[in-house]
Amino acid sequence: MKKLRVGIIGGGISGTALGYHLSLYGNAEVVLFEKNAIGCGTTSKSAGTVCLFDDSLRNRYWDVRLYGFESYLKMEREEKGSTGFDKTGTLVAVTSEEVEATVETGIALAKAAGYQGEYITDKDRIKKILPLIDVENILGAGYTQDDGYFDGTMISNTYARKMQQKGGVVYTMTPVVEIVVSGGKAAGVKTAGGTMHLFDRVVDCTGPWSRFTGKMAGLDVPIWHTKAEAFFLSPPGKKLNYVFPVLKYPAFYALRAGDNIFICKSHLSMDLDNPMHAGQWDPDKLPATGGTDDYFIEFLFEQMQKSVPGLVASGLVSSWLSYRAEPRDFLPLLGETPIDGYILATGYGGNGIIEAPAASRDLAKFIMRGESTPLLEDWAFKRLWGKERS
Ligand SMILES: Cc1cc2nc3c(=O)[nH]c(=O)nc-3n(C[C@H](O)[C@H](O)[C@H](O)COP(=O)(O)OP(=O)(O)OC[C@H]3O[C@@H](n4cnc5c(N)ncnc54)[C@H](O)[C@@H]3O)c2cc1C
Repeated sequence: MKKLRVGIIGGGISGTALGYHLSLYGNAEVVLFEKNAIGCGTTSKSAGTVCLFDDSLRNRYWDVRLYGFESYLKMEREEKGSTGFDKTGTLVAVTSEEVEATVETGIALAKAAGYQGEYITDKDRIKKILPLIDVENILGAGYTQDDGYFDGTMISNTYARKMQQKGGVVYTMTPVVEIVVSGGKAAGVKTAGGTMHLFDRVVDCTGPWSRFTGKMAGLDVPIWHTKAEAFFLSPPGKKLNYVFPVLKYPAFYALRAGDNIFICKSHLSMDLDNPMHAGQWDPDKLPATGGTDDYFIEFLFEQMQKSVPGLVASGLVSSWLSYRAEPRDFLPLLGETPIDGYILATGYGGNGIIEAPAASRDLAKFIMRGESTPLLEDWAFKRLWGKERS
């Protein structure tokens, strides 16, 4: 049987999930190149929430959300600790009638799939779940108890290991420095040191770096970097003596991180035309910690004042800055490009942990069998051909 040689650039959640899904096909020969360590890029800075519902991904993509959540649950069942799952549940504050409708549908979908979910309007009950919340300015809250957050780096490493068990090859500390294009077709990659690797397909899974790797193939990849500024707060009293759920508001979200609280401005509230929110930068210049702007912590404290006043007296323990890779319409960029054989799986923005399993499952099918799916059509890079200027 003739094998299809597929080279993947990038070992974050996108590259490793794709590598794993490709390795399930007997005629795939998969090689993944990561310039550093597996899961060390955006994936390592992620909150990793995979909630059964929230406003970060439209209900239209419910099956994407469910496949992501259940893939990780299965991984965790097969090997305890392989995904870093923390089952805290999720509380979504309902701030308007519009949000209410979305939440009610989301809860109905979660329940139909066999999970616990309820829309709560009894304010005392909401307070029991999260004592620090202000219930005056909300209509109610959606609550799912079976979900929570995962560790994207652990999942990436688990996917990479599973891919290797199926015969895939993973090179770490191996930057791709050139995408070899011959006669308008991607023919392989060159790694630092000059080694050439020939492929039938090259898939770019480098997230915020895809602006740079895209140029190696002669393509302007139309993504913007939104600043993901995460702050770790030490709550009043220092210890959380209850289960702090993933808390979602339209403008920000919070979750527990040990005894601290991780808090971040939501990705859909970022304005790509506001230079404080977004731009086109070099992810290699990001510091490991710190690097945050006063603007974001001030914004978040203002939000907390209104919504979770019990958190305002928290101490700031640490913070970090990362870049999410966002296309203009905040949906991923998948599939074929004008360069034959050069395929993109980037632009996952603030939802890559949720979306990577389903998107990779479909993309692997397309690469191996040439079959598209409605999801791939929705998120096709093709939707932007000729429309974007970088
Ligand atoms: C603060 C924050 C919170 C988030 N919260 C959530 C959340 O709650 N839920 C959710 O679903 N998503 C969340 N996200 C989004 C999610 O983390 C990202 O969408 C996802 O991690 C992107 O994965 P990726 O594989 O595309 O990119 P990355 O993880 O950045 O991986 C790209 C990899 O490519 C490698 N690379 C780059 N150039 C080269 C080269 N030339 N050669 C070889 N390798 C190269 C890099 O080293 C890197 O490891 C969050 C993101 C942030 C920053």
